[in-house]
Amino acid sequence: MVARYEPVESPDETTVFPYHDLTPPTTADIYSAKPIVERYLPRTPLVRCEWLSAELDADVYLKREDTLPTGAFKVRGGVTLVSRLDEEFRDQGLIAASTGNHGQSVAYAGREFDVPVVICVPEDANPGKVRAMERLEAQIEHHGETFDDAREHAEKLATEEGYRYVHSANEPTLVAGVGTAGLEVVEDLPDVDVFFSPVGGGSSASGYCLTVGELTDADVIGVQSASAPAMHRAWSEGTLAAHEKMETTAEGLATSVPFAVTTEILRERLDEFVLVEDSALWDGVERMLAEDHVLMEAACATGVAAALERKEELAGKTVAFPVSGRNLALDKLQSVLRS
Ligand SMILES: *Cc1c(COP(=O)(O)O)cnc(C)c1O
Repeated sequence: MVARYEPVESPDETTVFPYHDLTPPTTADIYSAKPIVERYLPRTPLVRCEWLSAELDADVYLKREDTLPTGAFKVRGGVTLVSRLDEEFRDQGLIAASTGNHGQSVAYAGREFDVPVVICVPEDANPGKVRAMERLEAQIEHHGETFDDAREHAEKLATEEGYRYVHSANEPTLVAGVGTAGLEVVEDLPDVDVFFSPVGGGSSASGYCLTVGELTDADVIGVQSASAPAMHRAWSEGTLAAHEKMETTAEGLATSVPFAVTTEILRERLDEFVLVEDSALWDGVERMLAEDHVLMEAACATGVAAALERKEELAGKTVAFPVSGRNLALDKLQSVLRS
């Protein structure tokens, strides 16, 4: 018999199911995810960024999460979650909603552990990311204009078909897996003073708070687009209400709803939370390409943008941030090159 699941009441405006545990993960949970990530994924290098170090008169390091399979950090979480998947979901499989990188993460992990995967994406999803998910043998469902439309469709299919819905943030195991990047930063750069983390749904920043924030003296600073500030408002006002403003061109940051698990961690642990304009993100993409020949998605340029805006404060400090993803759509790359 196929298991069917009805949604249960959620503290935020997304849908959660009985198998979603909304207890935030701990630093110990991240340590316990580390052997899984080490077994299935390569360790990512931490590399000094010469041009930004010169520009800021600081020691700036990049955590090269773009060197992971799928080209983004999220696969750490996917592999950790699917490696521990309950037997009852193995046949029916997984479903997720994504603008691309979460989907690639779940698809990669599904292929690794031989579990079928369906990914719901918005109609205009980045075609390169969609092709990558198809190559990883995921079934793709295009639905709606935005990430949130695709998310609602995935939630409906999960209810109807009994798929295990892999939430992009309300998943302690996924957040613990993502957090392993921070343990590597702690090992490689224990003297870090300032760590910038992008914030979309907050899984990445939660992981860095529970590692770099917990285990070093560094300040962990979250950076979100001013054009999609849902998590920022949740953090500053303590509300889990959806935000009407969601117009960022950085697809990795495009959510209008804050998520319960990550909001709880960030409210308790994030030292600061700043907003940057999309134009600063695109300038960051361009400069990283021009000076370092590193290809970043706009979501990933949050660290560059925030660091450049705080030049005075950072002088003399040891600063780090992740290259969270390299899956920039070709048409967007072309406009960066033409600008
Ligand atoms: C998902 C994503 C982010 C944002 O991460 P969250 O954990 O959702 O806050 C940043 N950069 C890239 C490349 C991403 O794919």
